[in-house]
Amino acid sequence: MKAISGTNLEQAKSHNRRVVIELIRTHGSLSRAAIARMTALTPQTVSNIVEELERSHLLVAAEAQKLARGQSIIPYTINPRGAYSIGLELGRQRAIGVLTDLSGAVCARIERDVEHPDPQRAMPVLQAIVEELHQAFAFDRSRLLGVGMALPGRYGDGGTTSLSPHSLPGWQGFPVGRELEERVKVPVLVENDATAAAIGERLHGVARGLASFVYLFLAGGGGIGAGMFLDGHLYKGSRNNAGEMGHIIVEPHGKLCSCGKRGCLDRYVSPSVAYEFMGIPNAQELSPDELDALIARSGEGLDAWLDQAVQPLRQTVDFLELAFDPQTVVLGGSISTSLMRRLAERLEPLHLPIDPDQKRTLPRVMIGMTGKDTAILGAAALPIFSETNPRFDVLQKPVG
Ligand SMILES: [Zn+2]
Repeated sequence: MKAISGTNLEQAKSHNRRVVIELIRTHGSLSRAAIARMTALTPQTVSNIVEELERSHLLVAAEAQKLARGQSIIPYTINPRGAYSIGLELGRQRAIGVLTDLSGAVCARIERDVEHPDPQRAMPVLQAIVEELHQAFAFDRSRLLGVGMALPGRYGDGGTTSLSPHSLPGWQGFPVGRELEERVKVPVLVENDATAAAIGERLHGVARGLASFVYLFLAGGGGIGAGMFLDGHLYKGSRNNAGEMGHIIVEPHGKLCSCGKRGCLDRYVSPSVAYEFMGIPNAQELSPDELDALIARSGEGLDAWLDQAVQPLRQTVDFLELAFDPQTVVLGGSISTSLMRRLAERLEPLHLPIDPDQKRTLPRVMIGMTGKDTAILGAAALPIFSETNPRFDVLQKPVG
């Protein structure tokens, strides 16, 4: 893997700090000498950064390893309890919050019902969840990096939503990031669910350390979006709306979509369509086990959905590969794990790649995180990514 080079200028200390954290995170553990070699930073610069990161509890020294001639080296690893993050997700009927440590492990989880969540009703609930998470797990408050929030839909500058009335009514133009930050008094980052989940997968999942991948997020309640990491950068598009894959037309003159077009990918592949085919209208309210049991019994309905979903999904993977040349396409989302597995099993054979003879180090399609906590764990990854990634620059920050 190609490491990101550091710079020895004093004013770039924060960049170098991020470079060192990212390098250790992707390698598991590294000595100071190895870090210096891989980042092209001077041994003195590396020593200073490692000391500072150790003092702030982000790194811990592991047991010294003996080398030949009596020398020894000390490998450093990320201290999972060195920092914490909160993830929030608002759905049509409930709000969920998780507190995770730096490794993404869940320390506490809180779920609250919110009927018809407009901003006036939902904001106090989200604030209360953050406060309850503080109480639910004993940790050093000064180590909380911030709050990340995943919302379905599109965003303008400053975390202002431009959600369609079909997803969550009343949120158009509402400055959710800024309002939440005023309430919870820590930095808040807002992203759409696909981007948040892609960041979670990049930090903790199958895409750990990958420079170029596309994450196709299948939302359990409907909607398909792509989170794109291209050459190490999160790609958001000129108006933050890149990756709205659910609305590419896969069937000209096909089924009518909520966006006004006909034949959109969403109308064929979305998990909500699968649940319609299987006669499970209340899928979003069921526990994962209850849902899996119904899917296992659904026989013909499931097969009929797979028959119509597989070809459009293959076409989408083909399009993503041709357009972006990623190392892999990750399929994941708040879709039931067993449903995703059934869909992925049917996906092969994929369309012929443009470079069939080229050796690949990764499969063309990988299965990422699935299940209903996918977006919220991605949301919790946002502050960690923002604080520790050398290329954090495209995440949205609330303005003014
Ligand atoms: Zn559409």
